[in-house]
Amino acid sequence: MALVVQKYGGTSVGTVEKLRNVVERVLEYYREGNQLVVVLSAMAGQTDALIKLAGQICNDPDPRELDVLMATGEQASVALFAMAVKSMGYDARSLLGFQVAIHTDHLYGKARIHEIDTTRITNELKKGRILAVAGFQGLDDEGNITTLGRGGSDTTAVALAAALNADVCEIYTDVQGVFTTDPNICPKARKMDYISYDEMLELASLGAKVLEIRSVEFAKKYNVPIHVRSTFSRERGTMVVAETKDMEKVLVSGVAYNKNEARITVRKVPDRPGTAALIFEPMFAAGIVVDMIVQNTSEDGTTDLTFTVPKADFEKSLKLVSEVAREIKAEKVLGDENIAKVSIVGVGMRNHAGVAQKMFKVLANENINITMISTSEIKISCVIEDKYTELAVRVLHEAFGLENGPTEDC
Ligand code: ADP
Ligand code: ASP
Ligand code: MG
Repeated sequence: MALVVQKYGGTSVGTVEKLRNVVERVLEYYREGNQLVVVLSAMAGQTDALIKLAGQICNDPDPRELDVLMATGEQASVALFAMAVKSMGYDARSLLGFQVAIHTDHLYGKARIHEIDTTRITNELKKGRILAVAGFQGLDDEGNITTLGRGGSDTTAVALAAALNADVCEIYTDVQGVFTTDPNICPKARKMDYISYDEMLELASLGAKVLEIRSVEFAKKYNVPIHVRSTFSRERGTMVVAETKDMEKVLVSGVAYNKNEARITVRKVPDRPGTAALIFEPMFAAGIVVDMIVQNTSEDGTTDLTFTVPKADFEKSLKLVSEVAREIKAEKVLGDENIAKVSIVGVGMRNHAGVAQKMFKVLANENINITMISTSEIKISCVIEDKYTELAVRVLHEAFGLENGPTEDC
C-alpha cells in the first residue's frame, strides 16, 4: 500500500466532465489499495474571475478579504470532488487549508507554508477515506485565511507529500510533463523524462509555470520526487529529481520566458553609499520581489539603476520608488511594461564558455534588441521587447538543438 499525493490543476477540473474523469482516475488508484490525498485547484478561470470580481468592488481590494475570496475557488473544487466520490459509493472528505491545518506566515496573496499538522489527515486516511485538500490556501497564526500565490496548489501538494512522507507526489496537468520549453508556443518542444531540482527551480523561477517555484524548493529541500504528468493520458511524464551524473552532460536543457515583469529605471541616482538600499527598502517592506537589477558605473557622480518587478506590483513600485527618487534627488523614474525575459537553463553551462555569446548572436540575427542581461551558474536571461517573445523562444530552442535531445555542442 502506497501513500500517494496527487494534485490536479485548474484545467484538469475545469468542467464537470473533467472533474468526473479525475474522480475515475483517483478511484482506480484507490481500488489498487493506495491511500490517496488529492489536492485540487480551482476550476479553470475561477481564480481570475474572483480577482476580477474584487476589482469591480474597488480598485485596491483589501488583501485579507481578497484571500478569503480567492480561497473559495479551491473550496468549490474539493466539495464537488468529494460529493462525486461519495455518490459513487466510496468514502471521501474535503478539507480546507485551515482544517488540515496548513500554517503559513501573514503575507496575504503570497504566504509561505511554515508547518503542516498531519494529525487529521492521518486519522482520516486510517478510516479508509479519500481526502480532497484545497490547494493554494492556509491559515496564519491569528487564524486568518491566506493564499500562497498564483499556482500555489503545486506547493500545497509537495509540502503535504513532504509532511506525510508520501511515496510519490504526482502533479497532473494539461501537458504530458516538463518540456524543453512551453509546448503551447513551440511545437518542437520535447518532453524530458527527467529534470534536476536545480534546473526545474530555474525554469520555474524564469516563467515555466508548469510547476510553481516554491513547490520545487520544497521538493528539493525534503527530497520529494515529483512526477509531472498529464491528466488526460496514461503515459509517463517527467520525474523531477536530484541531479545525476548524466544530467551534467546536458549543456542547455530548456528555454523559459516570462511576460509578467515590468522594468523600472531610476535615472541619475546620486552615486554614494546607501542610495540603493534606500530605493529598495520600501519595496522590500511591501513584500515586492525585485528580480533583475543593473546599475551602471558613473563618471558624473550619478548612476542609473534599472530593475524588474512583477507586473502586478508595477504601479505600486513606481509610486514607492518615485517617492524615494524625489528625496534623494535622482533625475527621474521611467517605467516600461512591454518587456519579456527570455532565458536558457542547463546544469552543463557551469563549465562551458560560449553559451552566452551564442544566445546573444541568435537574438541579434533576428534583430532582437537585448536591454538587460543576467546570469547565474546555470542560466542566462535577457530582457527583450515582449512582442518578440515567441520568436526568441523558438530560435533559441532551435539553435541549441533542444528538439533533438541532450547534446554537448554549443
Ligand atoms: P495547472 O492548471 O495544471 O496548474 P498550469 O497552467 O499552471 O497548469 O501549467 C501548465 C502549463 O505550463 C502548460 O499548459 C504550458 O503552457 C506551461 N508551460 C510553460 N513552460 C513549460 C514547460 N517547460 N513544460 C511544460 N509546460 C510548460
Ligand atoms: N487557483 C490558483 C491559481 O489559479 C492556484 C492554482 O491553480 O494552483 O493560481
Ligand atoms: Mg499551475
